[in-house]
Amino acid sequence: MADPRRLKVAVQKSGRLTDPSLELMVRCGLRFSRARDNLVCYGENMPIDLLLVRDDDIPQLVADGDCDAGIVGGNVAREFALAHDSEPFRTARTLDFGSCRLCLATPVDSGLDTPASLAGKRVATSYPRLTESFLRGIGIDAEVVLLGGAVEIAPRLGKADAICDLVSTGQTLRANHLKEIFTVDESRACLITSPHPLPDTASTLLERILMRVDGVLAVNGSKYIMLHAPRAKIAEITRLLPGVEAPTVLPLDGCTDRVAIHAVCTESVFWETLEALKGAGASAMLVLPVEKMLA
Ligand code: ATP
Ligand code: ZN
Repeated sequence: MADPRRLKVAVQKSGRLTDPSLELMVRCGLRFSRARDNLVCYGENMPIDLLLVRDDDIPQLVADGDCDAGIVGGNVAREFALAHDSEPFRTARTLDFGSCRLCLATPVDSGLDTPASLAGKRVATSYPRLTESFLRGIGIDAEVVLLGGAVEIAPRLGKADAICDLVSTGQTLRANHLKEIFTVDESRACLITSPHPLPDTASTLLERILMRVDGVLAVNGSKYIMLHAPRAKIAEITRLLPGVEAPTVLPLDGCTDRVAIHAVCTESVFWETLEALKGAGASAMLVLPVEKMLA
């Protein structure tokens, strides 16, 4: 029987979200070994197990409390939630991977160029509730045709006049002579959590993991910058540091008119930024990646 003190987190077994989901867990400090059956990753240094499943099963597993948390595309989570009156799970965090958009697209030469032009037409999709709720919301009556996959070939097969499908670069659409006409939903991977109460130990562990996820999200793209600057230019230099409000200012041994400035920049530090800093009198500039941060 499953140990209730161990936290069970559902992640996609094999697909676009698998590597970034496992990497997120590693960056949160989890070391795990993969079971021979490839269905579970056992946490070795923390009582957390990762269950490897199809992404479509993750919302149900979390809603039923079979898993305490899961990492799934926002699109899959919202499609599932639309079938329920009350919130079936909590969306605890929106993550920084799995970006895509759910788009309406039509054959290039169809003359169907707006959502309104789809009135009375057939729209093929794997996301029937998101599609229907969008079309209903703008007062368009169209027939939604449910397809499990290969949605982009539906118009060519004569199964539909338009599609509503996930797009990231648009290359698949172009290859199938389709054009995007409207974005119905923007999506990123989410960490969802169970609505059922957890035993105290598991609940504390989940809070710890969420805090670490926040730490990982906070440092993504962040840089630690160190430089020397004229004491008189501290305010000007601070304004030039992207996303910095209060840097650390340190004295330099044997030097009264220059100081060392250290700061975490929460936005990218481009060469242009360094050139502007140099122009303001900065020298000895060093930009380092940030690995972890805990507020
Ligand atoms: P499974 O076998 O687990 O059911 P799948 O084929 O449904 O896998 P993937 O194609 O791996 O799923 O996509 C998983 C998630 O990745 C999507 O639900 C979506 O949130 C996200 N994603 C990001 N970019 C894209 C894209 N270009 N096309 C499809 N999904 C994308
Ligand atoms: Zn799937």
